[in-house]
Amino acid sequence: MIISKRIQALEESQSFIMAARCQQMRDAGIDVIGLSLGEPDFPTPESIKQAAKEAIDNNFSYYGPVAGFASLRKAVAKTLNEELHIEMEAGQLRAYTEKDILIGVGAKQAICASVMALIGPGDEVIVPTPCWVSYSEMVKLAEGTSVFVRTDLEHEYKLTPAQLEAVITDRSKLLMLCSPNNPTGSVYTKEELQALVDVLVKHPNIYVIADEIYSKIRYTEAHATLAQFPEIENRVIAINGVSKSYAMTGYRVGWLACKNTEIIGGVKKIFSQETTCTATIAQKAAEAALMGDQTCVEKMREAFERRRNLMVELASEIEELKFHVPQGAFYLFPDVTAFYGRQATVEGKRYTINNCDELVDYLLDVAHVACVAGSAFGEPRCIRFSYATSEEKITEAMRRIREAMALLK
Ligand code: PLP
Repeated sequence: MIISKRIQALEESQSFIMAARCQQMRDAGIDVIGLSLGEPDFPTPESIKQAAKEAIDNNFSYYGPVAGFASLRKAVAKTLNEELHIEMEAGQLRAYTEKDILIGVGAKQAICASVMALIGPGDEVIVPTPCWVSYSEMVKLAEGTSVFVRTDLEHEYKLTPAQLEAVITDRSKLLMLCSPNNPTGSVYTKEELQALVDVLVKHPNIYVIADEIYSKIRYTEAHATLAQFPEIENRVIAINGVSKSYAMTGYRVGWLACKNTEIIGGVKKIFSQETTCTATIAQKAAEAALMGDQTCVEKMREAFERRRNLMVELASEIEELKFHVPQGAFYLFPDVTAFYGRQATVEGKRYTINNCDELVDYLLDVAHVACVAGSAFGEPRCIRFSYATSEEKITEAMRRIREAMALLK
């Protein structure tokens, strides 16, 4: 085997595998509706595209600083400080400056490099499940150990302080917390975060990656963030980027914000050896996104909210699906265990559903709708529907799903 043991242990991302299967079926002339991928279907707003074109014309063609352009880092710090103004004005929190920000190749690289900088063999990373597919694979890359904590529908799949307390050991080094959450759409309130912070305060060796990539796609009150708690401000690595909020997934610009200079120094070393910097043209576009008129963000958010309402309404018509109403991101994550043990014969083919993977295969085969099995997110009771697609497609997809599910007896 020529591949290292570390890489042999890694899984490929299930959502990309599903996207590839979808494409194969489409190439064969089958009309597949994709509810599997997690990216906005809107075009990038015009003013941002214009900024990218101007960056090309203005010869932003050379290596940039490893940390990212200072102007972009200042824009990131300003955006974050605006969210934290109450605590800052009360003199509780120090403002972020550009020195606390590193720009990476998407939030994904920012998270991965943070994990690599902090984690080594023997270190434990607390990962509440359901969780984004990549966290545990990043922990494997760093040769650390993921300690999964299974959350449940009753608590809207949010980690409780008692659950956190129960898994902490003297090897615990990092907690991964995603809000708004992929895949559940749950959003932690300030009170819920405070309760987790109260636990973390007792354990000063634990750091936190607060993945807030969906922070602007919310259907609820003000965004609460772990970065707003002075008790742990030097232990929080706040992650964000332009992918989801500005429909810029392909630009590959994300960042980490951290007031701990040691962590910033460690991650910067990784960036300097791994990528030098993300594309300079994309950085100029991201700066335009943050500094420009934010109406485009609100318009997309409103569209996601309409789609969320539509999907919730249509999913409610399938009485076996059990879910909470998502408060952020663009996913519905229903519990589908009611279908386990059921069977159907469609066009002469016999299907037996024993688990979420078989249900997802069945829906692809019979309904021609692609979604992702919850097993990819560490929750085998559920499947994930993405509603980052048009209302027509959502309506048609849910009609097909309802019909296919009704055949299962
Ligand atoms: N974090 C979560 C929870 C995500 O769902 C994603 C993308 O799907 C990312 C991070 C990565 O985003 P980016 O495109 O900025 O790398």
